[in-house]
Amino acid sequence: MFIESTIGKSRNQERKGHIEVICGSMFSGKTEELIRRLNRAFIAKQKVEIFKPSIDKRYHDTDVVSHNDNAIRSTPVQFADDIILLAGDCDVVGIDEVQFFDNRIVHVANVLANSGKRVILAGLDMDFEGNPFEPMPQLLAVAEYVTKVHAICMKCGDLASYSFRLVNIKEKVVLGEKETYEARCRKCFTEKL
Ligand SMILES: [Zn+2]
Repeated sequence: MFIESTIGKSRNQERKGHIEVICGSMFSGKTEELIRRLNRAFIAKQKVEIFKPSIDKRYHDTDVVSHNDNAIRSTPVQFADDIILLAGDCDVVGIDEVQFFDNRIVHVANVLANSGKRVILAGLDMDFEGNPFEPMPQLLAVAEYVTKVHAICMKCGDLASYSFRLVNIKEKVVLGEKETYEARCRKCFTEKL
C-alpha cells in the first residue's frame, strides 16, 4: 500500500511537487486507490482538485466513480492543458482515466509538479491488445512513484494485468465494463480461450 511521503510539505518549508502514477488493467482498483489517496489528502485539509477526460462518461458527468460506487467529485476536461488553469492554487491534483489524454498530459503533469503540487494520475497501462497505452509509458518515466495494481483473472483466479475484450471490435478505445472486458492473466490473455 502506498504511504504518503512526509518530505513534501512541512511547516515553514517550501512545498515540493511530485508525480505519482497508479496503473493496471480494467477492474484492478486503480480508481479506488486514487480515491483513497485523495480522501487522505482531504482529511489532511489539503486543497484537492480532480479531473478526468470528458471522453469518459460511463457513469456520471462530474464524478470520478469506481466500480464500488465510492465516488468523488471531478471536473471533466477536453484537453490536458485545461488542467493547468483549472488546478489553480490547489495542493493535490488527481487525474483519472489518464490514458485518454494525448501526450500533452506529460507536459501538464510536469508543469503541475514543478509548481509544487502533488500530482496523482490513474489509468490503464495496456490496451486490449496488450500494447502499452500511450501516454502511460511516458508518465511512468517521469513519475517519482509508480504503483501497479492487479485484478483477478476471470478464467483462472491468478493475478491479472491484461484487459481482455469480449466483443469483436478493433478500435483502440471502446468504453465499457463487465459486458465488454474481463481481467486476465498473461496465460489466459494470450490463449484467448
Ligand atoms: Zn488466468
